[in-house]
Amino acid sequence: MPPRSQTRRPRKPLRHNPDALREAREAARLTQAQLAATVGISPGFYSELESGQRGASEDTLARIATALRLPVTLLEPPKPQRCPWCRYPYAPRADGRIPLHVVRPRGRWCPRGGTPVVVPQAAVA
Ligand SMILES: [Zn+2]
Repeated sequence: MPPRSQTRRPRKPLRHNPDALREAREAARLTQAQLAATVGISPGFYSELESGQRGASEDTLARIATALRLPVTLLEPPKPQRCPWCRYPYAPRADGRIPLHVVRPRGRWCPRGGTPVVVPQAAVA
């Protein structure tokens, strides 16, 4: 099933990751209405946050993170990373691996691609 957040997007980049929001709420075993009530926003607005149609203010996102007992960074969009060997940009993955990629201009597989990496916390923050 494709992520729902890929459908309609607002013009501004979102402060939150809609998929992370949904996963965190489901992990906390809360319905959208329950979480919205805890945070003090309307269920309709919360639903739009989770579908990526609306953006959350910094304050609202912080209150959602508090309600879910999570650091707010876990609800934010993944920050792009770069391969330490060739500077290839990639989206962080849950398993912390660098995806396979080709080093330009030589057109060879990068030796760091496909290997596990530990992302230093300083690079994420
Ligand atoms: Zn590389």
